[in-house]
Amino acid sequence: MDCIFCKIAAGEIPATVVYEDELVKAFRDLEPQAPEHVLIIPKKHVGSLLELGEEDKDLAAHILADVVPKLAKELGVAEKGFRIVCNTGEEGGQTVHHLHVHLLGGRSMQWPPG
Ligand code: AMP
Repeated sequence: MDCIFCKIAAGEIPATVVYEDELVKAFRDLEPQAPEHVLIIPKKHVGSLLELGEEDKDLAAHILADVVPKLAKELGVAEKGFRIVCNTGEEGGQTVHHLHVHLLGGRSMQWPPG
């Protein structure tokens, strides 16, 4: 499968990796939208939130409950606050069809998003 994030997960394409374990990889976004902007991806290919299966519940919980708070603290944005975004599908603005959670921080976020 020709998936750029699968290639990053496999180390075939370079990325600025900030965290990695057996299930996930986190790396800096190429076009950062905030002073801190990292993407957290599962190493296995999951196309989007809609493709998470029963067997992926531990993976989803790991990303949200373990990796996001850990990285927010390490990146220094936990105290002031940060935003996570998971664009899904065309109208959701998803451009890379491998599940990824954006973690953005280091500036005040606006609402509603664009
Ligand atoms: P989305 O629009 O939610 O699908 O987000 C895809 C994100 O991936 C965008 O913010 C891109 O800047 C980012 N991106 C695309 N290719 C790369 C890459 N090779 N390394 C790091 N970030 C990337």
